[in-house]
Parts: sequence; structure tokens; C-alpha cells
Amino acid sequence: MMATRQQFVDLVRRVKACKRCPRMADSARVFGAGCGSLSAKVMFIGEAPGRLGADASELPFHGDKSGHNFESLLEQVGLSRYDAFVTNAVLCNPKDENGNNATPTPSEVANCASFLKEQLDLVDAPVVVTLGAVALRAAALVTAHTLTLKDSVRKVHLWAGRQLIPAYHPGQRAMVHRSFANQLADYQFIAEAVRRGSGGSARRKPSTKLSRASEKVGAAARVLLEESGELSYFALHKLLFMAEVRHLEASSERLTEGYYVRQKDGPYCVELHASRLTALIPGCFTRTVGRQLMVSLRQDVLFGVTSQADILPPAARRILSEVAGKYGHLPAGKLKTAIYLTAPMREVMRKEKTLRMNLFNSAVLPPP
Ligand code: SF4
Repeated sequence: MMATRQQFVDLVRRVKACKRCPRMADSARVFGAGCGSLSAKVMFIGEAPGRLGADASELPFHGDKSGHNFESLLEQVGLSRYDAFVTNAVLCNPKDENGNNATPTPSEVANCASFLKEQLDLVDAPVVVTLGAVALRAAALVTAHTLTLKDSVRKVHLWAGRQLIPAYHPGQRAMVHRSFANQLADYQFIAEAVRRGSGGSARRKPSTKLSRASEKVGAAARVLLEESGELSYFALHKLLFMAEVRHLEASSERLTEGYYVRQKDGPYCVELHASRLTALIPGCFTRTVGRQLMVSLRQDVLFGVTSQADILPPAARRILSEVAGKYGHLPAGKLKTAIYLTAPMREVMRKEKTLRMNLFNSAVLPPP
């Protein structure tokens, strides 16, 4: 695994330095630890990072509508980013002359194909899912096939010693051709293939609208808001992470199943994206103060009789209360320092020093 890690680090360096596509000169190279696990059970290949999504968040399929749909589809079939490596046919955001997202040209896809091949070889996931026609054509540049999206969707095809499952792109435009409900059925099929491919141990049971991971994240965030009153979005993520760490230390078990990644200003819970706050924490209220997003609970929710936090065991609630009491009042700088002193963050910093690269968007906690 160490050799694989080193090869990956080398690949990341080459991608970051790549200048093969002239119109991508100013786009981020969305490739690195944030793509996911190098021992993933499934590899998803999208088309290209989106302007408002991965190009900004540097986490593939996160932060825009396509990312939201993708994460929602994963959640609803019981898959998580812990299981997956997520990448794109081209690793930079192609923009048109107005600065909007554009489809990558065939030559841009061809330019990036050697990087895609290296990723496929390194991760070596038994199941590969292409998201959209561009990704399916990119796969053919790595190892030839004659599949078309329309005829081969939701079927397993043996390809390059792996199972290839073509699926539609989760963006809104593709939903016209393949509805969300139909795509959900595709993802159920994919999840089943992943479970079979990993001897049935891959994942938890699929759930309905909100996954168990999101339900628990929402419930835990709600306790923090109940205890602290209004919190900045920054503090909410940090307190949640601190509670996860304390719970892990006390019981060797995760408090929620949330996916936490290392970002520039510390850990960030992917499920708790700003656009999902009201879905995860019913009755939550947000306002912007200066450049900060502030989060609180409406008064009627705060004094309601039942709480969604009831789904959490008493020990988890106690830890959340303690964390809110101890760290909830700290200014951002001191809170950040406390977070960086936790064992998982120290381990991330140690790895970054050893590898001599930042691990932005890599997972910072073990899978639940
Ligand atoms: S899309 Fe791929 S080939 Fe083109 S500049 Fe980015 S990394 Fe290089």
C-alpha cells in the first residue's frame, strides 16, 4: 500500500503541473486525496469538475447541484464516499467564453486519458461506473469497448478485467433523459454489484430519503445548536468533529457515519453542506453576518417537546453537550487550534509532512 500511496503522490504532482489543455490554464486540477480511498470498492468517473462544484470545493462531485444529486443517490442506496474513488474524465473545469461550464472536447478527453488509465491501475477497483456519455467514451480510450450509454446503462460489462457499469450523469441536464427515480434504480443496481464484488460486506442497509449518516449528523448538529444557541457554520463543523473524536476515544466507535475531510481551515463534514442544513436540521435558521454564515434553531423548534436528537444514544448526547460547553464559546482561532491538536488531525499533519504534500479533502476519520 505504501508503494501505491507513493505512486499516487507522484501522479498528483504530475497532474497539478499538467498544461496539456490550453483553456484549462486557470482551472484547478481537481485531483488528490479528496478523490477517495486507494482501496475503493468502486470507482466513479464523471465528465469534468463543475465550475460551482469541484472546481471550487476541489472535492469531486460536491458543492453544486450535480454533486448534491450524486451524494443523495449514494446515500439512498447505502453507499458512502468511504467505499468510493471519485474522479473525472478530465481533471480540470472546461469553461466556455462566458466562463460557464462547457463539455470537454474530444482532444481534451484524449489529453487526460493517460491520467485516467493510471488511476484505474492504481485504485484497481473491481467495479467501475462511468457517469454520462463523455466518461464512457473516455473509458474506451483506456481500454477499447463499443458500448453506448443508451444501450448499456444499468448492465454489467466485463471490461479490462473489471465490471463496468455505465450510468447517466447526475447533473440536472441529464435528468431530462434519465429521471432521478430511474437513476436511483441504477444506483441500487450499482450498490448490489459493489456488495457482491466485496463479498457482501461493503455497506450498510440502504435507507429512504435521508441516509442514516445524514440523519445522525443532523441530530448531532441539532444538539450542538440546542446547547450553544447560534453558531457559525465554521464552528458547527468543528464542534461536530470534536464530538466525533471524543466519542471515538471513549468507545472506539464513531458518533455518526458522516464523512469528514481535511480542508484548509480544518475538518469539514461533507453531509453538513450549507445547502442541506434545513433538510438535515428541521427548523434551523441561517443568516449571514459579515462574511460568516450563522446557524441557529427557531424558537418554536428549540422549545418543542420532541427532538430529532432522540435518535442518538444518551452517551453521544452527553459528549455533544460537553463539547458544546467546553468549546462552543471559543473564538474561531482558538477552536481551530484545539481541533488541530486532536489525534486524527495530528496524524493528517504527520502524513502531510512525510509525503510532502497537502492532503486537502482526504478523509480524516476512520470509516464507521
Ligand atoms: S484536463 Fe487533464 S490533460 Fe487537460 S490540463 Fe487538466 S490535467 Fe492536464
